[in-house]
Amino acid sequence: MKIAILGAGLAGLTCAIECERLGVNADLYERDHTVGWIWPSVNYWPSIFFREKGDIIDYLKKEFKIDIVPIGECRNIILKSPNRTASIDGKQGYFISRGKGTESVESQLKRFLRKTVMYFNRNADYRELSKNYDWVVVATGNDVVARDLGVWEDAGLVRIIGGVAVGDFNHESSSLYLDTSYAGSGYARLTPFSSTQAILGLYAIGCAEFDLERLFSVFLQKEGLSKLDFLFKLLPIPFSTGKVKKFQVRNILLAGRAAGLTENLLGVGGPDVIASGVLAARSIINNEDYTTQVEKVRDHVDNISSFRKIIEKFDNDGYDKLIAAINTPGIKQIIYNTNIDFADIGGRVLKHIAK
Ligand SMILES: Cc1cc2nc3c(=O)[nH]c(=O)nc-3n(C[C@H](O)[C@H](O)[C@H](O)COP(=O)(O)OP(=O)(O)OC[C@H]3O[C@@H](n4cnc5c(N)ncnc54)[C@H](O)[C@@H]3O)c2cc1C
Repeated sequence: MKIAILGAGLAGLTCAIECERLGVNADLYERDHTVGWIWPSVNYWPSIFFREKGDIIDYLKKEFKIDIVPIGECRNIILKSPNRTASIDGKQGYFISRGKGTESVESQLKRFLRKTVMYFNRNADYRELSKNYDWVVVATGNDVVARDLGVWEDAGLVRIIGGVAVGDFNHESSSLYLDTSYAGSGYARLTPFSSTQAILGLYAIGCAEFDLERLFSVFLQKEGLSKLDFLFKLLPIPFSTGKVKKFQVRNILLAGRAAGLTENLLGVGGPDVIASGVLAARSIINNEDYTTQVEKVRDHVDNISSFRKIIEKFDNDGYDKLIAAINTPGIKQIIYNTNIDFADIGGRVLKHIAK
């Protein structure tokens, strides 16, 4: 069986790992010269989004045999609106390194590969590959192929600007800032690499204008962060959100963000993307229906995304009220420090109401 995988990101690498485990060595094509995002970053995997699965690192290990070492555990979340702050303690998730460093999740995953042939510096064309391989798994981390195949349903753009700042940070705490004046219905976030470096990112959605440099400096000023020194700043191309009408077209399977498996509330995708990579390999090699397998992943992504409709209605006054409500005695504990799966239960209810 000949399998080609496009993209050595989270979905592509986990797909290749599972192929090897099931006895097939795939060919993995990557357009960059090595694995990992070109910009170093820290992703946040919030536990509140994965309650039904339990501890997400344990779950990935047990369910998919993907053993990832985070760079840190998040033990405090600070939620900030223009006039309110909520600080929440407890096990709030993990910080995952991204990029080309040895600790990055991409580098970790690559080390599991033994027999997969990896072709770097290859901006592969899925159409050509689909003629020469039995199966092609598209894990390119963008919507290009799904659009080309006519199966992409657009849900809008997120404009991102950010950078690595140097300073004094709590390495176990992440801050999330909600303010329509610089983020629209998006948000900004501070996520630590360590106690001396952090990623500051602005994820702007639906703003009146997108002068990102200006919006980023408004963010830094309003949140008292303008004195921070930046090692460098990054301006990735706009991040498209959406979903696919089909996960498979002929011998082509879409996985990861190429299959729209990143929720559009905060843009969290890591664990779901990993699941889809493994499921693509299992479906092909075990002759199972990929769509049926991956629909469970999409259901979770859709549940989280359905909160976006509520967030889009908020103005700054609404954000203040939201944070005040979270601060109501007992509420914070119930939302953040129980095993109740608010995200999926709430999302399912919202989806039902929207029907
Ligand atoms: C700025 C930013 C912040 C994010 N923050 C978080 C977060 O905090 N938590 C979280 O869970 N998720 C986050 N995400 C979501 C993120 O998309 C997923 O975590 C994950 O990276 C998606 O994995 P993937 O394998 O689908 O794509 P990627 O990891 O992006 O990998 C795609 C790979 O395909 C390669 N490629 C593309 N086209 C071709 C081609 N034609 N031929 C060969 N190779 C190709 C690329 O070079 C890349 O290596 C964030 C995304 C962005 C952009």
